[in-house]
Amino acid sequence: MSGTRIGLGEDRHRLDAPGTGPLRIGGVNVPHERGLVGHSDADVLLHAITDALLGAIGEPDIGQLFPNTDGANRGRDSQDFLRFAMERVRASGYELVNLDCVILVEKPKLSPYKDAMRHAIAGILEVPVAEISLKAKTGEGVGAVGREEAIDARCVVLVCREHSEA
Ligand code: MG
Repeated sequence: MSGTRIGLGEDRHRLDAPGTGPLRIGGVNVPHERGLVGHSDADVLLHAITDALLGAIGEPDIGQLFPNTDGANRGRDSQDFLRFAMERVRASGYELVNLDCVILVEKPKLSPYKDAMRHAIAGILEVPVAEISLKAKTGEGVGAVGREEAIDARCVVLVCREHSEA
């Protein structure tokens, strides 16, 4: 494989009924009356990052590696998936250069939690916080995100061979 590789990840989870909160996003519990529907802890952002990392090294996606038909993944902390993906990246001889994410969420405002998410993600990946970038956008009141039916997350990552000039 070449010295630098790019990966793309995307995920969507449906919002559950009122009384199911908080929201689990980026390894952080965000206070909200509605949580996300999912087989695992439904952390839509960590799933997108996991798929981006796996994609960068040409590995199968999160759904193939951790199927929702496997009871072992029920309610599972998505940090496990992300940690596994980063281990695979390093086992392939690569290290993270940086990753950039967008979370599409109508409510609540995520700006107060973005730094906590960046630190949480950096901690799981064991990389400097400066390598993690995060943006939050609304759905402008239209589409599944705008109608508060779902939250989406997208992530691109760049990895490079360790000890190389990329
Ligand atoms: Mg998911």
